[in-house]
Amino acid sequence: MMCRPAGLNNLQEKQMAKMVIGGKTTDAVSGMTLDVLSPTDGLVFSNIPRGQAEDVDLAVSAARSALDGKWGKLTALERGRLLLRLSQTILDHIDELTQLEAKDTGKALTTARNDILALARYFEYYGGGADKIHGQVIPFLNDYAVQVIREPLGVTAHVIPWNYPAQMLGRTVAPALAMGNACVVKPAEDACMSVIRVAELALETGLPSGALNIVTGLGEEAGASLAKHPGINFISFTGSNEVGVLIQQAAALNAVKCVLELGGKSAHVVFDDVNFKLAVPAIVRGIVGNTGQTCTAGSRLLVQKGIYDKFMAALAEEFSKTRAGTPEMNLNCGPLINKAQFDRVNRYIKKGLEDGMTVRAEGQIAEGVPGGGYFVTPTLFSAKDHSSVLLTEEIFGPVLVALPFSDEAEAIRLANATEYGLQGAIWTENGGRQQRVAKGMKAGQVYINSFGAGGGIELPFGGVKKSGHGREKGFMALEEMSTTKTIVQFHGE
Ligand code: NAD
Repeated sequence: MMCRPAGLNNLQEKQMAKMVIGGKTTDAVSGMTLDVLSPTDGLVFSNIPRGQAEDVDLAVSAARSALDGKWGKLTALERGRLLLRLSQTILDHIDELTQLEAKDTGKALTTARNDILALARYFEYYGGGADKIHGQVIPFLNDYAVQVIREPLGVTAHVIPWNYPAQMLGRTVAPALAMGNACVVKPAEDACMSVIRVAELALETGLPSGALNIVTGLGEEAGASLAKHPGINFISFTGSNEVGVLIQQAAALNAVKCVLELGGKSAHVVFDDVNFKLAVPAIVRGIVGNTGQTCTAGSRLLVQKGIYDKFMAALAEEFSKTRAGTPEMNLNCGPLINKAQFDRVNRYIKKGLEDGMTVRAEGQIAEGVPGGGYFVTPTLFSAKDHSSVLLTEEIFGPVLVALPFSDEAEAIRLANATEYGLQGAIWTENGGRQQRVAKGMKAGQVYINSFGAGGGIELPFGGVKKSGHGREKGFMALEEMSTTKTIVQFHGE
């Protein structure tokens, strides 16, 4: 049975999803399955196959066959057109995919819809880019012609997390396919229904068999088997630092390139000439959006001493309007993904209180949410100094910690005082200061007087320090997911 849910109501009944391998939907070879729970009520709403090493073997072989077969023979223009067609097919199924994503992750329906729009945009952007990435001709010795051409890496592996399943699929797979690679994706066991459905839609759209394979299952089983598989030529991983290190070790054993998109502890640096109207709502959105389960979440707030009390008062007022609810309630925030994440975030809130931090504002859990859901109270803390782990560790929940600073030098020092370096934001009207602080912050992306800009598919994205390495999004992803060949031709007598 193919998994074709048509809406939330239909999903009330338990459904069995399948993997997609070599152009077919399939169970795990072992026949084993895993339950999928809805974070909104904690109830099982689907099963997925529990893929293992033998399923990964089949998927890698299918991808290799695709490269040797129809998929590998397409021109860049033909690949691009297929991706553009898939983008349109995703838009044609936007209601179904939105419902699926919301049910699986607990996100508000409006947020889930925006995620599906972003997914379609990834395939549009990279579909358009497939035939626009060129090689080079290099001047060399007399009687030599030198070309540097771009080629696919081969079989690319993609291990993705649960916080944005659809967007992560688009982000990592669209550029890989655009460059002519064949992909094996291991989505997160907590949320992967939209990923499976998009792979089915890709087949219906005409993507050749084996170009996009999905193996579901546990990280330590299917994920680990994929990462160490000798048949892969590249691995893109998005997830936690702990697993990122394991992935890099596995990649090293086969000497394959890896891109790691790991955690973050993004800081807002707010100077005394901040535009309150711009900054306050953006800062609140940047931590409660997706219930704080975003690698780039702005989870630290550094505010210049002179305006600390005034700014915190304005922020507290806005923050206290936050409401966590079910997808249908369409509020700013939803539940956390699972019980482990719920316990972890509550532990951090408790630790903040033990560390002597002041609660400056709390959001609310909306009335009428189901009892078994993983809803947590959004919390704004104010810290006296930099001693608490809440200022350095990734919480991955709607918890914001504020701290005052004196001057520019201290602001930069505090902004860089974590092991992470994914994203940051500067709020000031002073142009010189904007440049100095942006250059001083150790992060892969820095925003000035804004935060996140809706995801910015066109903008190179990735971390420094323990936030990882390599770049996705923008044209840089096409370079990451391809290799070059230098052809040296002697044409003398
Ligand atoms: P996770 O590392 O536990 O899981 C991510 C993926 O890795 C899942 O598919 C999981 O099944 C798989 N996995 C787990 N153990 C594995 C193993 N031993 N071998 C191979 N694969 C394995 O992370 P998570 O809890 O699902 O996601 C949250 C983390 O992801 C946060 O730290 C967050 O910051 C990070 N994240 C980063 C970005 C980014 O772009 N930098 C984006 C989203 C999330």
